[in-house]
Amino acid sequence: MIIDFRSDTVTVPSPEMKEFMFNAKVGDDVFGEDPTINELQLFSAAYFGKEDALFCSSGTQTNQIAINVHVRPGGEIICHEESHIYKYEGGGIAKNSGASVRLLPGDRGRLTAEIIAKWINPDDIHFPVTELVSLEDTANRGGGAVYDFEEIKKISALCKAHHLPLHLDGARLMNALAVNGISSKEYASQFDSISLCLSKGLGAPVGSLLIGTKDFIKKARRVRKVLGGGMRQAGFIAAGGLYALKNNVNRLKEDHENAKKLEESLLQCSWVKKILPVQTNIVVILIKNIEMRDEIISQLKSKGVLTVAFGEGAIRMVTHLNISRENILKTCEVLKNYIPSERF
Ligand SMILES: *Cc1c(COP(=O)(O)O)cnc(C)c1O
Repeated sequence: MIIDFRSDTVTVPSPEMKEFMFNAKVGDDVFGEDPTINELQLFSAAYFGKEDALFCSSGTQTNQIAINVHVRPGGEIICHEESHIYKYEGGGIAKNSGASVRLLPGDRGRLTAEIIAKWINPDDIHFPVTELVSLEDTANRGGGAVYDFEEIKKISALCKAHHLPLHLDGARLMNALAVNGISSKEYASQFDSISLCLSKGLGAPVGSLLIGTKDFIKKARRVRKVLGGGMRQAGFIAAGGLYALKNNVNRLKEDHENAKKLEESLLQCSWVKKILPVQTNIVVILIKNIEMRDEIISQLKSKGVLTVAFGEGAIRMVTHLNISRENILKTCEVLKNYIPSERF
């Protein structure tokens, strides 16, 4: 048996989700005539207390569209140095929007109002014009770390004072909300635009949502078309997202409990130096002998446990809806009996 912890993107739709997708009513979404996409967009906008939403092909696309709408060429984006928008989107900030980036350090992928304030450029012709602040919650590189909502409020107030839009890369926003206990509307009220992945912990096969004001989404729809993201009868895939939002949010807590269980087990392992304290569904393991990383990954794989390299001396495991409690117990058993061996 293979237990796949590489990412929460590996989930496959359940029979119920497939049935719902199969029966979706569809139309031409470029004409705005796909009823399922329209329903998903209205449902998600209302869920977050925003005016409108746009269904897109991926989280990279929603982030890149948001950046393109908010920032002019030569303008500057403030984000964490390990943020997805910078590190994992193929240089899209430069390529799609011709924008400059101010990368800032911060605890486990999170920024503070204090550090952002220092880097909002003054009105001086030498400097790029700061035009956007982007946060990531949960922070992937930070091991699924969740922002303190009080800090988000401070950052939002700072942005308002400087007339700066605030974007959220909320690929795993639902995981954050399951932990911080803040209502979706109150949380979303702090941001001008939100990107939310349907194809991660929520378990839909494809798609992300971009959420914001009517005016913002109108502009975003144009950018999506330019990027080749105007899809036609995409209601079939949007239905997976609609099903996920209605059925798979409450169960995220199980993924978090499962990740906690893995953490406990991993902390007993002789080869583990440290685990980034688990808050959500991501477990980042720092290993003692950093040379052994790829060997450990391949040895665990041979025992049916798939993990992924996550930078120097680090391995990532992610729990999701295709990983049961039974899978977790089995994995803990594998970990308990596993001692890395060097192969010569
Ligand atoms: C997965 C992810 C995205 C979007 O990735 P896609 O593969 O394009 O859907 C964006 N931000 C974060 C933090 C992510 O983990």
